Amino acid sequence: MKALFYEKPLRENASICEKPYPQCGEDEVIIKVMSCSICHGVECDHEKAGGSSCSSYPLTPGHEFSGIVQEVGGNVKTVKPGDRVTADNTVPCGICFYCRKGDFIHCPDKRNLGNVADGGFAEYVKVKEGKTIHIPDHVSFNEACLTEPVACCMHSMDQMNIRYGDEVIVLGAGPMGIILAQLAMHSNAKHVVVVASSRKKLDIVKSLGIDTILMDRNDYSKHEQEILKRYPLGADCLFDATGAEELVYTVPRLMKMGGRILGYGYYRGEQPQLRFPFNEFWDKELTYYSSLSQVGDFGRAMDAIAVGKVNTKILISYEYDLENYFQALDKVLYEKDVIKVIVHPNKE
Ligand SMILES: [Zn+2]
Ligand SMILES: [Zn+2]
Repeated sequence: MKALFYEKPLRENASICEKPYPQCGEDEVIIKVMSCSICHGVECDHEKAGGSSCSSYPLTPGHEFSGIVQEVGGNVKTVKPGDRVTADNTVPCGICFYCRKGDFIHCPDKRNLGNVADGGFAEYVKVKEGKTIHIPDHVSFNEACLTEPVACCMHSMDQMNIRYGDEVIVLGAGPMGIILAQLAMHSNAKHVVVVASSRKKLDIVKSLGIDTILMDRNDYSKHEQEILKRYPLGADCLFDATGAEELVYTVPRLMKMGGRILGYGYYRGEQPQLRFPFNEFWDKELTYYSSLSQVGDFGRAMDAIAVGKVNTKILISYEYDLENYFQALDKVLYEKDVIKVIVHPNKE
């Protein structure tokens, strides 16, 4: 079968090549991959000399995939060949301190598909039966492969626990920003506003009926004034989905006393020099949460997509065949207004 393969980080060590079709174990399911989405964090990091910090090499990447069940093992009862599915890519070790107390997300020895085990940028991917999630008929493979980022945002929403009447800010209108904003819209929040520097991405947010403010990267006072016009006392909850280190210093002044801030993912400077603004946090008794991934939130995420609370179709900027994977990756790496790029290892 055809698969994307990184011998080690950097493109010169990667290719679309022939790999053996996976062997299906008794409790396993082979999925014929129809759509697999490029994750800005992980897939872009394969292009750096140090690679992705959550991955090991050699690797077939891809943790956001959907497809058709091709084959099932003898013990498998809940899915059958022909079923349309996506799958939770996380594989906690099951035996560490955290796994033994059911705190799977904090397992330090996960063997996640697309990070450690082979992932979905291949014609076929192997998963454990318990990881599969059926896709409702009216949800497309493209929409369903984005269940993973929605699941990651579900975990963020749990951390923030938005209360009735909360005023919410989302910084950033990349995939995570737009998903978080939609989940916040359907939460107890009184008002949600998305702040970002791309007019094109904000237009997408606006089309979802969510308030927007344009950010000037050279003058943050402009969006700060606009926010304080809407929320004179500041916001209760702020999601920072920009990955821009310098914004951490500005967020305390946008918050009410006792406000909650969640940083999604890593700060992505070449050499982050983060000095946390402790004094500003103490002055207002602010709380900082961090959120990076998920374990076990695929069911809720698929439900949110299926009932229309999260529109994932709107996130898709381009689609490519697997043969053209590196062209697809370049769109994510170098084109400013791109949100999500989907790769198709098999054609419908
Ligand atoms: Zn992802
Ligand atoms: Zn573990």
